[in-house]
Amino acid sequence: MKRREFIKGAAVAGAATAAATSTLSTPAIAQGVKELKLVTTWPKNFPGLGTGAERFAKRINDMSGGSLTVKVFAAGELVPPFESFDAVSNGTADMYHGAEYYWQGKSKAFNFFAAVPYGLTATEQSAWIHHGGGQQLWDELSAGFKVKPFMAANTGVQMGGWFNKEVNSLEDYKGLKIRMPGLGGEVLRKIGAAAVSLPGGEIFPALQSGAIDATEWVGPWNDLAFGFYKVTKYYYYPGFHEPGTTLSVGINLDVWNSLSTEHKAIIEAAATAENDYTLAEFNARNNDSLNTLINQHNVVLKKFPDEVMYAIGEASGDVVGGVRSDSAITAKVLDSFLKFRKQSIAWSKLSDQAYWNARILPFKYAS
Ligand code: CA
Repeated sequence: MKRREFIKGAAVAGAATAAATSTLSTPAIAQGVKELKLVTTWPKNFPGLGTGAERFAKRINDMSGGSLTVKVFAAGELVPPFESFDAVSNGTADMYHGAEYYWQGKSKAFNFFAAVPYGLTATEQSAWIHHGGGQQLWDELSAGFKVKPFMAANTGVQMGGWFNKEVNSLEDYKGLKIRMPGLGGEVLRKIGAAAVSLPGGEIFPALQSGAIDATEWVGPWNDLAFGFYKVTKYYYYPGFHEPGTTLSVGINLDVWNSLSTEHKAIIEAAATAENDYTLAEFNARNNDSLNTLINQHNVVLKKFPDEVMYAIGEASGDVVGGVRSDSAITAKVLDSFLKFRKQSIAWSKLSDQAYWNARILPFKYAS
């Protein structure tokens, strides 16, 4: 029997009792219960991220009638947040809930399965993963580390971040110490800023102590919860670096292969449901939270100037294209992503983008 597969003492006792009295016959007791350990990169019950991981676990527990249970460990409870991937890869934990760009030190290709600068929106990302060959490439990449990955949440378009001073030109980025993970951080370094990647729980103290001058996190709902408004004033949009960030679940490949067809289907369905459900939650909560930030905490909302967004776009293209030399698999992922991005831009221009432009025309509407 594998280390992770065990029959709970109570279940063993129950089965013995059932055999003796024939009064207990639930499948979980008769067949044993499989329990998986899930580690996360998020603080316990953090809105949308930690709560999304808990809800994912509950869906699996409920759908399996308790025959497959998932126990969630918040950042640091079992392993430090950024060691979640290694913990699953080496079998210390069974699953992680995190964001793939945190593992870019292993392969730059991981960035594409979270978010890359000026990349895909949430719906475009789902289209690539489910119907554009993305999942197959992701499986191939992660299998090299003994992990099976799934999309499990999406934040939608993120905000540009929190700054102590106004950003009016590229010059204003020079020397700024900014928290930004993934390829977005590399773009900032290319334009002269000092970017660092910190787990969520470490951002506020770093900002408060002056160890960093600015930070991005997610959007109003999440950023309000961390209280960045207490130490910074300017809140910039849009986030060039994360246009629809996928959060993911990865499962140890041996554990995945050991699961029944039913349990595999349950995990996949729970991940797909959460990917949709969390995006809806972010979209529902962000605007109210933004109003709270502005009206109750006097945050100053600012839009990055177009010339800054343009220049960062050029730098983003260089950084994203530059990952080609990382490895053969990264080059393969990049090619697939670039092809899909091109077709997404063509279709979005006629669909979402055209509609949004039409909807903000100043016509009268029911009130
Ligand atoms: Ca972010």
